[in-house]
Amino acid sequence: MSILKILYFPNKLLKKKASLVSKIDRDINKIINDMFETMYISKGIGLAATQVSINKCIIVIDISKKHNQQLVLINPKIIKRTGKIIMEESCLSIPNISAPVIRSEKIILQSLNYYGKLFELQAESLLSVCIQHEIDHLNGLLFIDRLSLSKKNYIRNIINHNLY
Ligand SMILES: [Zn+2]
Repeated sequence: MSILKILYFPNKLLKKKASLVSKIDRDINKIINDMFETMYISKGIGLAATQVSINKCIIVIDISKKHNQQLVLINPKIIKRTGKIIMEESCLSIPNISAPVIRSEKIILQSLNYYGKLFELQAESLLSVCIQHEIDHLNGLLFIDRLSLSKKNYIRNIINHNLY
């Protein structure tokens, strides 16, 4: 396995929309394994392929502390949303920044798994938020894009001032 390079905001590649995966083979499995390793070493709970310059609809998630609840989503699609939830979110592509974001509380999604098998998943609270955050990445959206313009500009100023 290898560690992949994570893209940081405001890299334009983070705005690219990912393509559907047409065939799940060894190359895709290797990408997934590398993504898990990259996510764990970066202390994240979710990572989208977009964040590591791979233009494919692949997401890895593990919200457990022991790193033993791996969830792989390939071509995920949310088919039902209910309720609203606000959680403080952060992102491996925007280090040291966090902000509360409004999302759907419960979701039902369809996705392919590591082996290419279609499955349905119901998620709520942290897992639901994490999945929605990662699916946004596949659509070229960051969590700060879901904030008000004034908050987004405030964060942009902090980032420009501190990092660039
Ligand atoms: Zn993120």
